[in-house]
Amino acid sequence: MKIYSLFFLLPLLFLFNAREQPDADFCASNYFREAFFQENPGLRDVFELTEKAYAEYLSKGIPTRGQQLPFVLPVVVHIIHDNGAENISDALVLQGIQHLNEAFANTGYYDQATGVNTQIQFCLAQRDPDGNATTGINRVQSPLTELDYTTQDLALKDLIRWDPLRYINIWLVREICNNNGCAVAGYAYFPAAHGGAKDGIVMEAKWFGSSNGNSGVQIHEMGHYLGLYHTFEGGCANDDCLADGDRVCDTPPDESTVPVPCGGSVNSCTTDTQSGFATDQPDMYWNYMDYGDWDCYSAFTQGQADRMAWHIDNVRYSLLDSDGCQDPCLSALTAGFSSSANLIDIGTTVNFTNTSTNASSYQWLLDGVPVGNGVNASYTFNNLGTFIVTLETTNADPNCFDSVQDTIEVICPVVASFEPTNLFPAPGEIVNFANNSSGGTDFNWSVNGVAVANTQSFSYVFPSEGAYTICLDVDNGLCNDQYCQLIFAFTQQSDCEIRVHQNDRKRRYF
Ligand SMILES: [Zn+2]
Repeated sequence: MKIYSLFFLLPLLFLFNAREQPDADFCASNYFREAFFQENPGLRDVFELTEKAYAEYLSKGIPTRGQQLPFVLPVVVHIIHDNGAENISDALVLQGIQHLNEAFANTGYYDQATGVNTQIQFCLAQRDPDGNATTGINRVQSPLTELDYTTQDLALKDLIRWDPLRYINIWLVREICNNNGCAVAGYAYFPAAHGGAKDGIVMEAKWFGSSNGNSGVQIHEMGHYLGLYHTFEGGCANDDCLADGDRVCDTPPDESTVPVPCGGSVNSCTTDTQSGFATDQPDMYWNYMDYGDWDCYSAFTQGQADRMAWHIDNVRYSLLDSDGCQDPCLSALTAGFSSSANLIDIGTTVNFTNTSTNASSYQWLLDGVPVGNGVNASYTFNNLGTFIVTLETTNADPNCFDSVQDTIEVICPVVASFEPTNLFPAPGEIVNFANNSSGGTDFNWSVNGVAVANTQSFSYVFPSEGAYTICLDVDNGLCNDQYCQLIFAFTQQSDCEIRVHQNDRKRRYF
């Protein structure tokens, strides 16, 4: 039963409270945004950087990840109840998800020629975090269904939570209260909280799916979850519509949180033309992110749709990789293999022995490139480096898939080395270089960068005084190594002076 309380404010302008539940501050998302940043002060900077990136994307076309719409995001609904009416039926949950999808698609009841199709949709999870079949609905009995949101938010979510990187968690409770009463209908965490213990949406179960208007609560909260502010955020300030207000340019500035009767009109700001509106606009109280009467809700704007899509693509993108919307795997398999070696010399063949269970087809990949589809595999590594070997497996159930990886490090076994008979020869003196290399088959000697021999051992007569760089390159046909030494040729003086010189140079150079 609805109770309408009418106020006379301006000629022809009526504001009213359209339901038993006070609407005046029905959404506590802003409270949690501030609380989140107080708990995680470092994330406020991340949040602002994200806002800056989005503004630059809009104003300068700075590219983003660029995954293409439409998006389908998996949702899990946790009904936290104490055996009261808040333990709503599966049918109501399904209806609530349907309302959510119709609103985001701007179809059915919600298509009132006011909004756009966001191309964002939601599925009730088809598989749980372990890959098993699920309805996407969980029921947990707890007195926390009477939630004091100022102290019990985390305790509620600790009752049950599915990986918030893979699922949008929605907790339904009987009442959301603080010391002043239970006027809050719901709240959501913004994208900066993505994947954290508190991430998700909390709302009172009585609104979820119980009517098109009541489903406005989860539609509104999903807007916050995907990065939207209230249309009245920041009031009338509108010097830069990408930075002021709700940071969306096609929602008129608005500083009113008072519900307007459906079909009525209110205009709380006169700054509209500063963001491209040709004329001053009435407040968009039918927008899902307003505090209007939920029965009037009918629109996300294109600017809001773009903002949500960007936040999915750039912040909450792990949801796009989730398998939560896929049909469950009914014949679970496990991918596995062992490698005959992980640290090998170049040119070595590694055998990969399949240890998968319940799999029937295989794809082997080396650094993401297919290299075979046999049960087992072998590969000869003729390049240096670190390589990722992946085995992907499937079976007769097309919804079953698993993969596993191993790392192979390929090194060069060639070590170049030599020992001269004299480090300080006199001009004209022959020096023999004993080859101490290992692992190689080809040898190339050079003096000051000029090739001089390709024999195993090497002798050289230094023609005149000077510093000579002697290098030996050793190759095994697949890789090579190089070793160099400086040799100083100079005219010898007394034995004593030579010894001093030798020691000095050894200290300096070797
Ligand atoms: Zn809100």
